[in-house]
Amino acid sequence: MLRFRYGPMDCGKSTLALQINHNHARQGRRGLLLVRHDRSGAPRITSRIGIARQAVEVGAEADLRQLIREYWVAGEQVDYLIVDEAQFLSPQQAEQLAELADEVGIDVYCFGIATDFRGELFPGARRLFELADELQPVQVEVLCWCGAPGRFNARVLDGEVLREGDTVVVADTSPSVVEDATSLQPDPEITTLRYQVLCRRHFRLGDLGPVAVPHGQLRLG
Ligand SMILES: [Zn+2]
Repeated sequence: MLRFRYGPMDCGKSTLALQINHNHARQGRRGLLLVRHDRSGAPRITSRIGIARQAVEVGAEADLRQLIREYWVAGEQVDYLIVDEAQFLSPQQAEQLAELADEVGIDVYCFGIATDFRGELFPGARRLFELADELQPVQVEVLCWCGAPGRFNARVLDGEVLREGDTVVVADTSPSVVEDATSLQPDPEITTLRYQVLCRRHFRLGDLGPVAVPHGQLRLG
């Protein structure tokens, strides 16, 4: 089975990925955690609630079938794969995961963001939507400043929503949803660039809300 669970940033995907890993491991199954561009900058899956596990960083050119073969050659069993930040996979890598699910019966769980800051599907996410046996939105826990479900990751520079640029820029996320800021290591060169989760309407309008305050709550009174 190839599964893709998707949602906006900070909706708890990484936490869910680690929970699934825990559940499988408890059954004595052996798995591998893969990640592309984790926010920690180190090859592990970290969740904003502070849990982390070692993971294998997948390069842009990596052949995931080859990677699994290498584990087998080393005598390591791989029953399941958990892939975090799966939106950054190439379409070919998404196809390799489908092949692993079909040909060698590996259970594959992909977690990622569906759309980029322009509101368009990431190529890897698109291929997963096309191929996955099971698609599941991660229950949205992240709200827009207006209270509506946050579905879009707006890229914000100096208070403006950006509509163009490289789709892969890792930056700090909105302070409103960061629970543990110490786990973040934003690139010092792009400190004014950040992401903010918005509902579709406010994403369309580029409306970041009435007051941008450090802790993300609307100022009362
Ligand atoms: Zn809104």
